[in-house]
Parts: sequence; C-alpha cells; structure tokens
Amino acid sequence: MNVLVINAGSSSLKYQLIDMDTQAVMAKGLCERIGIEGSCLKHTPAGRDAVVITSPMKDHSDAITMVIDALVDKDHGVIADMSAIDAVGHRVVHGGEYFNQSVIVDDDVKKKIDECSMLAPLHNPANLIGIEACQKAMPGVPMVAVFDTAFHQTMPAEAYMYALPYEYYEKYKIRKYGFHGTSHYYVANRCAALIGKPIEELRIITLHLGNGSSITAVNKGKSVDTSMGFTPLAGVPMGTRSGVIDPAIVTFLMEKEGLSIAEADAMLNKKSGVFGISGLSSDFRDLENGSKEGNAKCKLALDMFEYSVKRYIGYYAAAMGGVDAIVFTAGVGENSIALRERILSNMEFMGIACDSEKNDVKGKEVEITKDGAKVRTFVIPTNEELTIALDTKKLLAK
Ligand code: AMP
Repeated sequence: MNVLVINAGSSSLKYQLIDMDTQAVMAKGLCERIGIEGSCLKHTPAGRDAVVITSPMKDHSDAITMVIDALVDKDHGVIADMSAIDAVGHRVVHGGEYFNQSVIVDDDVKKKIDECSMLAPLHNPANLIGIEACQKAMPGVPMVAVFDTAFHQTMPAEAYMYALPYEYYEKYKIRKYGFHGTSHYYVANRCAALIGKPIEELRIITLHLGNGSSITAVNKGKSVDTSMGFTPLAGVPMGTRSGVIDPAIVTFLMEKEGLSIAEADAMLNKKSGVFGISGLSSDFRDLENGSKEGNAKCKLALDMFEYSVKRYIGYYAAAMGGVDAIVFTAGVGENSIALRERILSNMEFMGIACDSEKNDVKGKEVEITKDGAKVRTFVIPTNEELTIALDTKKLLAK
C-alpha cells in the first residue's frame, strides 16, 4: 500500500509518497509560490538527486497535477501510474472540537473543516483546497484528514478553559486547542516503545522545540495539557512568536504605539520571541553563535527560552503527579546539544539528569539519561508524515 501525504499551505504544498509495507519514503517534494509568478516544484526521489521543475501553478489543482506527473515521470518518477497511490493523508491544522481523531474525508468533514477556518484562517482554507485538488485529480482515491489539534482533545476542561466570560466559549469556541498533536503523539509512543512499557503506564513530557515550540503533558497516552493555546502563539517564546505574556500588554501597546489590530497581531507573531529579544535572528544556531561571541541579547533570548521550557517541565510534572520520561524533538530539540544540557541542568531534585556524552548527538533517536537518574530522557526525531500515513492506513483498514 502506498500513501501520499499532503501538507498544503497557502502558497506551498509539501508531499511524501510512503510505501506502507516498508515505511520507506519513495519520494518527497515541495511546490512553492503556488499562484505567484516563479512557481516551481522540487522533487526528490529516494536515493537520487532532487530535480527542480519550474512551471506556472495557478492554483493547488495545478500543483497536485505537477506532483502526480513527477511521481509517474519516466526519468524521476517512482511509480508506474496513479493507480499505485492507494490513499492520501492530509495534514489539517484545526479540527476544533469536532475531531478528536483522524477521519476519512466526506462532505460533512469538509464542511466542519471549513467551519474551523474561523479558528485557523491562514491554514484551514489552504488544507481544504489541498483536499479538493486531490479529490479532483484522483477521483475515487480515499482521502484522510489528520488534525494537529486532535491529540489534545483529551485535555480536561480545567486545562483547556480560559477564565474569560463563559459566553465567549459558547459564542466563539474560545478555549485552548493545542497544536503539533501529530508530533507529540508520535514521539510519546516511540518513547513508550523505547522504554518497553505500555504508554498507559507512563507520564511523559514531550518537548517539541523548533521554530514553533510546544510542550505537552502526556499522561497514560493522553494529552492532558499543552503549552500552545487558542492559537499557536501561546506557550514558550518561539522564533518570532511571543509565547505567553500578560494580556494587558497588548492593549497597553496598542494605545501607546497606536497599533492597529493587524499591527498588534504582526508584532506578537512575527517580531517577538527570540528574534524580538535578540534583534538578530529567529534561528537558534545564530543565537548560539551570537551568545558565544558575547552578544548579551542573544544570551538573554536563549536564557529566556530555556527558563520557559524548564518551567513547563515543572508545571506538567505537577499536573501529572510526577514524570517518568522527557522527550526532546523538532529542529532545536533534536539538534541543539547545549540547549538540551542547559534545560536539564539543576533538575536532579526531580530525578532528571542528562549524561553529557550520551547527549552529544544530533537528529538521532537516543536515550540521554545519566546513570541512576529516575526520569528517562530521550531525543526522538519527530516524523509527522509517517504518523499521518499510518493513521491513513489504519482508518482504511477498518
Ligand atoms: P523546525 O521548526 O522543527 O524545523 O526547527 C527549526 C529550528 O531548528 C530553527 O530555529 C533552527 O535554528 C533550529 N536548529 C536546527 N539545527 C540546529 C542546531 N544544530 N542547533 C540549534 N538549533 C538548530
């Protein structure tokens, strides 16, 4: 069985074709500048060089057609024809309160994804266009929607409600949803497999630290709290996002600086986080280098990030009545040795300690626990595409 995984953005579309018998990626790629001049497709067949195909793509239907053409191409293709694609798994950012698991797409599912566009105006419309473009190009091929928010639907009300007038929850569905659910689900389950215990017996804190970061408390396999909120702006400071701040700062700055709603939104989402503090970069590698060279603002940005992650570890250990394992994943979590070491420092009182030698790895699945430490600590590279493909396969087998 071959599953095509699609992650459609507003002007881009990422894909992977996965052979589910071996879980091997047969080909992957990215369409960029859809609907904009200069659109192109970068297609990488497994084990071979990438090819860049420049051709106008006026919309996502054109992009899907180009992806299929590339997959069946006689030179750089990996399948004989389209009938070798058995199903398509789509990443959908927001499932609101409708979806607590992945679903096979039908008209009702599409209507609900559309309704959730109010909650994710930049993402859900693009995800829906991707689904419809695939339905048009591959009639009869089953489509599955896998939601970033679904894993967190198990949070209890005391964790997901905000202390605002209750009517806003009823009127606008304002509550914590959480994001990166596919990643948290995947690494928590890998962690249980590595420990060799059923996930139902474990309390795991998953740290998805990348350009966007979120932290989740996974108690007995279920998300019971997560750091992102109504939107992916909440939680720890991120590349350019503020994370949690006193909400009164927003109205204060809007008044003092005469910011419009759009300007305030851009300030919080695009000009804040470690970029806002350092004034230099949102890339953690640049901040590490800056800090080493004595740039005090780079050091402050890293210190704030690490302190914030540390706080969530304490917070979620309290939420679960303890912690058995901690997992680092995503760009920063998988690759920054120094940052992991600093986050885990001075936590022996909680039974947390990492071994510097074992921690000296990048992008590899490895346990980094110091001998004798009670809490097991891991680096586990995330694999959202494989999780989407596995969910797709599981649903179709039912
Ligand atoms: P992601 O959003 O998961 O793709 O992660 C992107 C982030 O990973 C960027 O901010 C990069 O700076 C960061 N990153 C990648 N490699 C490293 C590294 N070796 N050290 C620190 N950060 C890294």
